[in-house]
Amino acid sequence: MKRAPIVLLLLVLTVAAWFFLKPKPPEPIGTGARLTFTALPDLAEKFSGDHAYAQVKAITAFGPRPPASENYGKVMAYLEAEFAKSGWTTARQTFTRVTPRGPVNFCNLLARHGTADWTKSLPVVIGGHIDSKDLPAFHFIGANDGGSSTGVIVELARVLATDPQAAGQVELVLFDGEEALLGSLTHADGLYGSKYYALELSKRSTWPAIGIVLDLVGDKKYPIQSNPDAPAHFSDAVKSAAKDSGFDLTSYPGQILDDHIPLQGTKLPTLHLIGDFTQMPYWHQAGDTLEVIDPAALEQTGRTVLRFLARVKGS
Ligand SMILES: [Zn+2]
Repeated sequence: MKRAPIVLLLLVLTVAAWFFLKPKPPEPIGTGARLTFTALPDLAEKFSGDHAYAQVKAITAFGPRPPASENYGKVMAYLEAEFAKSGWTTARQTFTRVTPRGPVNFCNLLARHGTADWTKSLPVVIGGHIDSKDLPAFHFIGANDGGSSTGVIVELARVLATDPQAAGQVELVLFDGEEALLGSLTHADGLYGSKYYALELSKRSTWPAIGIVLDLVGDKKYPIQSNPDAPAHFSDAVKSAAKDSGFDLTSYPGQILDDHIPLQGTKLPTLHLIGDFTQMPYWHQAGDTLEVIDPAALEQTGRTVLRFLARVKGS
């Protein structure tokens, strides 16, 4: 009989401990104060397709670069040095995820011009993936798939740095683990880096106004197309930006699973630009080499992005 009060006390203490120590529910995504975006000056003419091509060449020269590989680490170090050359500060965003191949260590690379306070966002985020799909049956270097967008982003960094005020509005992010580790990309396998980046973005006190994601942007025969669910206020700006960069931009039909999806999931208005990979005979094949990369296509992409940022309104 004397034990009853002790049991009751323990119960009360347990409930109290649970109440105070229970894990907090995750913050609702995208609740930070949204930043206002002011159009950037038009820097498009400064973007060089030859420079971007040289970057794709340098990146793919390391060989296949699947997540957690030695080559991936070498590419990261190379990119950090390239960003530093034009005054960008970089940060590695490392995390581990359980994948169909077991736990894998991933690493995104973030860059900002000048000093960086990573607890706050900048108005613009421009991203693309670094990793190449792990296809050991052949020497898969993903020149267009992963290489092209990375090369364009490094060249964008060089161009933006010529106008520090413009560069100060932009965060660049290179995602790891876009590719599925087994078979085709699914919601469960792939997009590891962009999902993690989106999660971290949601913890910041301020929120970007515009997201841009690039993928497979180096093939002239299959020029970039845009996501049909891009915000309506992007439409005129990106179409006229493409036109003045030498091509007619169309929307791809349906939905493509790519790194823009996690960003859109955070309610970040995001433009996705991607070549029609279903028509590329070398997609996820040994033929995705430098031979399919056209400097003119890289230039069209880079200039479209810069013209878009010079013309789009904040919301
Ligand atoms: Zn791919």
